[in-house]
Amino acid sequence: MTTLKGKGVYGAIALGRVSVFSRKEASVKRTHIDDTEAEKARLAAAKEKATEQLQEIYNKALKEVGEANAQIFEIHMMMIEDEDYNDSINSIIETQSVNAEYAVAVTADNFAAMFAAMDDAYMQARSADVKDISNRIISCLSEENNESAASDEKAIICADDLAPSETVLLDKDKVLAFVTAFGSSNSHTAILARNMNIPAIIGVGEELLNSVRNGDFAAVDGYTGEIFLDPDEETKARLEKKRTADEEKKRLLQELKGKENVTLDGRKINIYANIGSVDNIGAVLANDAGGIGLFRSEFLYLESSDYPTEEQQFAAYKRVLESMSGKKVIIRTLDIGADKQVDYFNLAKEENPALGYRAIRICLTRPEIFKTQLRALYRASTYGNLGIMFPMITSVSEVQQALDLCDQVKTELKADGIEYSDKVEIGIMIETPAAAIISDRLAPMVNFFSVGTNDLTQYTLACDRQNAAIEQFVDTHHEAILRLIEMSAKNAHANGAWIGICGELAADTSLTESFLRMGIDELSVSPSFVLKVRDAVRRCDLSK
Ligand code: PEP
Ligand code: MG
Repeated sequence: MTTLKGKGVYGAIALGRVSVFSRKEASVKRTHIDDTEAEKARLAAAKEKATEQLQEIYNKALKEVGEANAQIFEIHMMMIEDEDYNDSINSIIETQSVNAEYAVAVTADNFAAMFAAMDDAYMQARSADVKDISNRIISCLSEENNESAASDEKAIICADDLAPSETVLLDKDKVLAFVTAFGSSNSHTAILARNMNIPAIIGVGEELLNSVRNGDFAAVDGYTGEIFLDPDEETKARLEKKRTADEEKKRLLQELKGKENVTLDGRKINIYANIGSVDNIGAVLANDAGGIGLFRSEFLYLESSDYPTEEQQFAAYKRVLESMSGKKVIIRTLDIGADKQVDYFNLAKEENPALGYRAIRICLTRPEIFKTQLRALYRASTYGNLGIMFPMITSVSEVQQALDLCDQVKTELKADGIEYSDKVEIGIMIETPAAAIISDRLAPMVNFFSVGTNDLTQYTLACDRQNAAIEQFVDTHHEAILRLIEMSAKNAHANGAWIGICGELAADTSLTESFLRMGIDELSVSPSFVLKVRDAVRRCDLSK
């Protein structure tokens, strides 16, 4: 048995087989082929397989996210059959006597460059699609992919690190746990693990990659941050016992369902849930959250290979609002950039992406993207109790510009005869020290604040949230952070706004009482933490 240790970011236990996450950045080699006809037949078989995979993905997406979102996979199936695309691949195989992988890769590069150079934004976006389908065909051509596709068993995913876009694309039904060599506890991958309710360990170090192989048996303790490779009988029995105790604890918390979030001396607050996808709503309802305090809408963009259209977004927002049956749903507008990257935004590589072109900065400088989202949001607003929240605010002027764009969108909808609710609350995230410090000026402009402690911590303490090497300096309870939250709460209330916390700190029950004493009105946490926080609130006595 080998024991490795990292940092547990979601406490739970898992036992099962390891699947080493392989990034399919197929580096394609050019090799000489004598029998070009056989090579073309190999290509045809790979294309057939790629189409079968896409059909499966399409069916799954249709069920989970609806027709509008699934459509892209239908387009991909059509692109695989495109005549020009296929002529190019076949002609490269024939004329250069080369392997199919190489012919597909060259064609992909040529077609992607051609699309990218077009004037029309829709055609430009096809550039990413042609690369996507080509990568799929290339991985179908490689045997390695065939092996990993064979396993249907749930597995412990071991990886160097996982980008948020990679995490959202993993088949959640097949993930027992995440273990990564690198990464930090406030990264979006760690947040996703918490949202998905699965044990997760980060920062195990390079040793992880040298020690694990596909199919190894392992046990993961998300509480202690330990992964046991080939565990002995005693360790297995100990962890099985711990898992049973863990389940019992969670079962006991279930008894708090339906109960109020009220302190012993009668102060009530709201406990909402954070989600990244429409798929998380089941967990929100199962854990009896009073609403959704943060829907990270950028995950709709991360899951997609092109800008989600107004219709696709409208369908997603409507579904969340309808499913929550009149309970509050706060949808945060696009917070792309920094660690949340998608190819089709074509964002330049930056020295300091967390301090760079991200979130509201993209929305205000590319208003066509922002207005599409705002239109979808306002159209969906008649289906429930919507709040719209802007991320990464640092100034009065940014809030004013965002509000002006909301007004423009409403005027346009009215002119088009499209209904929207006039009860939509507008809020901003307090996740920069600047926003907290000028919260007295921002509060009169909005209905609510929501403190994003993940970014507020990174910007206040000057500690990159992606950098595992400096975790020892990240004091999440730092007085500076708590003072900024308190200051924002005072300023919110003095101006008739309410204030919540939606960063990971909201689930830190050692601070629940302090937050209540500051006057925090709402705590929004991963669905699986709702009942734990309710329990903490019900144990507080603010009269003492
Ligand atoms: C935060 O910064 O605390 C937050 C909730 O936003 P995100 O984690 O998505 O950056
Ligand atoms: Mg943030």
